[in-house]
Amino acid sequence: MAIAIGWPFSVSPLASAKTESELAQTAVAKKVIVIDPGHGGIDGGASGGGLLEKDLTLDLAKRIRSDLTQAGYQVLMTRETDTDASQLFPSKLSSRHKRDLQNRLDFIRKAQAVGALMIHMNSSNNPGDRGPIVFYFTESEAGKELAQQIQNAVNRVAGSTQRPLPRRNFFVLRHSPCATVLIEVGFLTNHDDASRLRTVVYRDRMAKAIAESAANALRETPTPPPFVKQNKTKGALEKQ
Ligand SMILES: [Zn+2]
Repeated sequence: MAIAIGWPFSVSPLASAKTESELAQTAVAKKVIVIDPGHGGIDGGASGGGLLEKDLTLDLAKRIRSDLTQAGYQVLMTRETDTDASQLFPSKLSSRHKRDLQNRLDFIRKAQAVGALMIHMNSSNNPGDRGPIVFYFTESEAGKELAQQIQNAVNRVAGSTQRPLPRRNFFVLRHSPCATVLIEVGFLTNHDDASRLRTVVYRDRMAKAIAESAANALRETPTPPPFVKQNKTKGALEKQ
């Protein structure tokens, strides 16, 4: 089913008589983190051990949202149901895959987020590959810092020693205006990872590790300025 999702912000102008401390509190309360559960709808993503990536990413994302909300952030998710993001905003791009990626990026841009967490599950031809891996854009210092903190936290849960990895050509990481990481939470093709990811206890521990480390890493990050439309996506964005 095609789902058109409206932009979730209600923009209410600040009352004129706010004190400085009230304004500061408003600013803190409005700090946004975007969670992007990978895949969805016809795009199932990776599979293994009877698990489907798109289901696990959404489950993890909701758990992370709950923890980040408790930590005082406003959390926006690119999807909350079993759908991809190709119809999130109107688009003239003909490829579903390109629309999907462009819309996930535009969602982050428009959210004026201090950070974005893209949640994925890994797969490999080598069944021995296991454990979480956090990716960031090679040239983003903020992304690298966020990736390091999250990697340390998820390593403790998984009992692994992986380092975060830089990537130059992951589309959303490359173009995101804020600290953005792509977290491969585990390998569905690895027996141990799949067995653990099947349990609520492990998914909860992973979610908590991701949320706590992201909350701490982004605490001092200022909200970025509003996104300015670019010609390439002008038509689509003007309809919002
Ligand atoms: Zn994926």
